[in-house]
This record gives sequence, C-alpha cells and structure tokens, in this order.
Amino acid sequence: KLHNIVQETKGNIRVFCRCRPLSKVETTSGYKCVVDFDGANDGDIGIMNGGTSKKSFKFDRVYTPKDDQAEVYADASPLVTSVLDGYNVCIFAYGQTGTGKTFTMEGTERSRGVNYRTLEELFKIAEERKESVTYNISVSVLEVYNEQIRDLLATSPSSKKLEIKQAGEGSHHVPGIVEANVENINEVWDVLQTGSNSRAVGSNNVNEHSSRSHCMLCIMVRARNLINGDCTRSKLWLVDLAGSERLAKTDAQGDRLKEAQNINRSLSALGDVISALASRSSHIPYRNSKLTHLLQDSLGGDSKALMFVQISPSDNDVSETLSSLNFASRVR
Ligand code: ADP
Ligand code: MG
Repeated sequence: KLHNIVQETKGNIRVFCRCRPLSKVETTSGYKCVVDFDGANDGDIGIMNGGTSKKSFKFDRVYTPKDDQAEVYADASPLVTSVLDGYNVCIFAYGQTGTGKTFTMEGTERSRGVNYRTLEELFKIAEERKESVTYNISVSVLEVYNEQIRDLLATSPSSKKLEIKQAGEGSHHVPGIVEANVENINEVWDVLQTGSNSRAVGSNNVNEHSSRSHCMLCIMVRARNLINGDCTRSKLWLVDLAGSERLAKTDAQGDRLKEAQNINRSLSALGDVISALASRSSHIPYRNSKLTHLLQDSLGGDSKALMFVQISPSDNDVSETLSSLNFASRVR
C-alpha cells in the first residue's frame, strides 16, 4: 500500500492524518464528532463545519479513531527501515494539544507508539542482517523550549548552552549531548522513559510544559558492511512537536506570550522549510529556528519525511482542526 502512496506524493514528505476518539468528558459534555471518515480508505477526510458545509482534505493516509498503534506503525515502517539502508529520515507529529501527538509517538506502556516500535524493528532487522552488516544504534533525546536545546538524557544539568554545529556536508550535531548506546530492545523503553520523565524537571506543570516544547528523539545508525567494508551513518528523528493551538487573547502577555511566539516561529519555520523543499526553491530557510536547524540533515536532499497531523473529532475544536489540516495540506 505504501508503495503507491510514495509514488503519488509530489515532494519527499508524506502526510498521515490521525483522529483520536471523542473523550469521555467530551461525550458527557454533549460534544459531537464532526469528522466524516467515509473516504478514509482513499485518504479523504471531511470536517463538518456547521450545518451542511463540509471541508474536505486529502492525505496519504487517514486513520480513524478505531485504528490502533500497530496499524499506524505498519504504514510508517518502510520509512523507518530505509534508515538501515543509509537514508536520513524524519517523522513528526503535529497538532493541537490533546489530539494524540504523544500517544502516536511515545504511546503508553500497554500501547506503545512509533518511537518504541521503530527501535524494535531496527533491532530485528539488524539481527537478521548480522552476517553481512554490523549496526551500531544510539539514541539522544532533546527538548527545544523557547529556542533553547536541553539534553533530556543528561544526568546533571549542563551549564553550557547547547548549540548546533556543522561537522561536514549534511552533518549537523550538538556537541556535548548524551548519545546512549542501545544494544538491544530490552534497554530501549527505560531510556525513552528517562528522556520523557526529564521533560517535567524544573517545570511546575508537566502537561503544560510538554505542550509548549518540542520533544525530539534522534536515533543514530552506524553501519559497517562486512563484505565490502563500507561504512555509513544515518539519522532518524522522531519528533513530538509543541501544540499548534493559538494562544487565547487573555493569555497574551509575559512568559506565555514569549512561549507562544517561539512555538509559532518554529512551527511556521517548519512549514516554510517543507514548502521551500516542495517547490524546489534554491534557498531552504533551515536556520530560522532551532527545530528546523536540528532537522536539517533529515529534511530535504534524498532524506524522507513523514508528518502525522493529529486532530480532535469534537465540534468544540473545529477551528483548530481546520487550521491543522490546512497546515498539513500546505506541506504536502
Ligand atoms: P498531545 O500529545 O497531542 O497533547 P496526547 O497524546 O497526550 O495528546 O493525547 C491526549 C489524550 O487522548 C491522552 O489521554 C491519550 O491517551 C488519548 N488518545 C490520543 N489519541 C488516542 C487514540 N488514537 N486512541 C485512544 N486514545 C487516544
Ligand atoms: Mg503531548
């Protein structure tokens, strides 16, 4: 199925739309589902916007609230495994807070998401190929908050500001960040949890903080071909973006305003980079935000990208839903 999808897509970015179920609170409050999934199998989705008016969108894939983590991962899998063939890859989740970005990427212990399944599959294939290729896999977990990079695997807070450096053609890195070597899948969940738990440190409201920062998992794959001696390095970014919702006017002051401006700036920088790539522009504005600068090696060139646009089904969220779907249509 993905094979066709890849050929249909104009740029090098695929867009998958995922809608979460109506929550209990929404149901008891009388909110209704406004999403039309009739064309979901063909990548069509419609949003009922009052009365009979319907706005339709087309994506590479549409997931209904019934589609589970395994089905979602199955479609991302070909992209993930291309990392083992030397491609740089970037997968990110975009959308309003509460629409399932973290659920899709991290998931829960019982219902694991893309991050864990990705590493699980990388280890599985590495094992299958061990007669001909030796793979070394390491992970870093970063957070970008207010245009500052924080290392979520660092055991002690660094006094030095983390910056992005260019090491060579198409190779950006952050000197000083922890790269945790992972030998097998049993080590992975703990490392990912360590990263995830550090997001909360130093903030008085965990959920609020995580909705205002980008959480970025970087998987580095080093491969040595045992037959011809070739060595390759590739990078896979898995990104849980800050919430895309617009700030309420009443909150538009002080720290909140600064946070909101930084989020807007980095999310629009991401949109700008992707549309510049799609229109084959000669200048790609990677440097406009820490987010796009970090992702530079994995966006553009012959790298492959996938965006999950996450939406709420509720009539209460229609305007944010339309704004997310418009953003996602622009990058496709
Ligand atoms: P975000 O990271 O975008 O703010 P979350 O991932 O925290 O959103 O999701 C909000 C809530 O909705 C969580 O309780 C999560 O478990 C639930 N949820 C999100 N997507 C789904 C889904 N596809 N199926 C079931 N529950 C979901
Ligand atoms: Mg989240």
